[in-house]
Amino acid sequence: MLEVLTDSFRSAINKIRFSDDEKSLKSALENLKKALLKADVHHKIVRDLLRNVELETKAKGIGQVNFLRSLKTHLTTILTVPGHQGFVFASKPPTTVLMVGLQGSGKTTTTVKLANYLKLKQKKVLVVACDLQRLAAVEQLRQLCSANEIDLYFEDASANPVSIAKNAMKKAKEGLYDVILVDTAGRLAIDAELMDQLEAIKKELTPDEIFYVADSMTGQDAVKSAVTFHEKITLSGVILSKFDGDGKGGVALGIAEQTNVPLRFIGVGEKVADLEHFIPDRIVSRLMG
Ligand code: GDP
Repeated sequence: MLEVLTDSFRSAINKIRFSDDEKSLKSALENLKKALLKADVHHKIVRDLLRNVELETKAKGIGQVNFLRSLKTHLTTILTVPGHQGFVFASKPPTTVLMVGLQGSGKTTTTVKLANYLKLKQKKVLVVACDLQRLAAVEQLRQLCSANEIDLYFEDASANPVSIAKNAMKKAKEGLYDVILVDTAGRLAIDAELMDQLEAIKKELTPDEIFYVADSMTGQDAVKSAVTFHEKITLSGVILSKFDGDGKGGVALGIAEQTNVPLRFIGVGEKVADLEHFIPDRIVSRLMG
């Protein structure tokens, strides 16, 4: 993802020629504004960010060093949402996680990535196939789990996702699993039926975490869907998939700012190992080049 935002940031930053006066600060802010809007960052975030950077740079003394330092601080602040970071285990196993998101967002792949990440931490993980919306989803999970030696619980496609979730939990408790990751149904767009199903699964399992998988390449649409999912089922974490693609970087800033849900991981490729912790200042350093 970072390409577009990084390139435009770099070019905006490279254009900054401070001669330590207000005029050069204004033109630096103008370049930055264009870069941020081009990267699909919401205009309200841009406005607030620029205002903060302007005030701080003026207070500390107009110049390139203060400008860049202030920009870095404020971007990091936006991305640092208080709450859990990375993966947090419940005090009583199994830690139960619902994986939610729109179809095509990378939810199924991310579920297996997370299972693999936990397996490498010597945890016993059960993936549960509750995405019966997309016919190929269960098969996709079966293949991915089998290739990576991850346990999968699935039932017939005619089964009810809520009863699958219930049966999977029974198996997880009996099998002394540490973590249960439930791949829920995605849709092309949010609809009432999808939300009702998610709510029913949530009620059945009382999960410790609800992770929303957002496609970094879909810009403001990903932000809007995150907001809607959060309103309906209360998310506890966000995983940004396809962070390696050339999507627009505004997604990370937008989701953090508009949902106030912590970003937990980023997906950086199609392979199972391509999952990284979301670390705000590292992301900002990458953004600023
Ligand atoms: P789902 O419909 O949300 O379950 O989406 P899938 O898990 O099937 O993913 C859709 C496509 O996105 C697949 O081709 C995945 O390989 C791809 N994908 C998922 N995560 C990433 C990622 O982090 N980087 C890249 N480049 N591709 C990804």
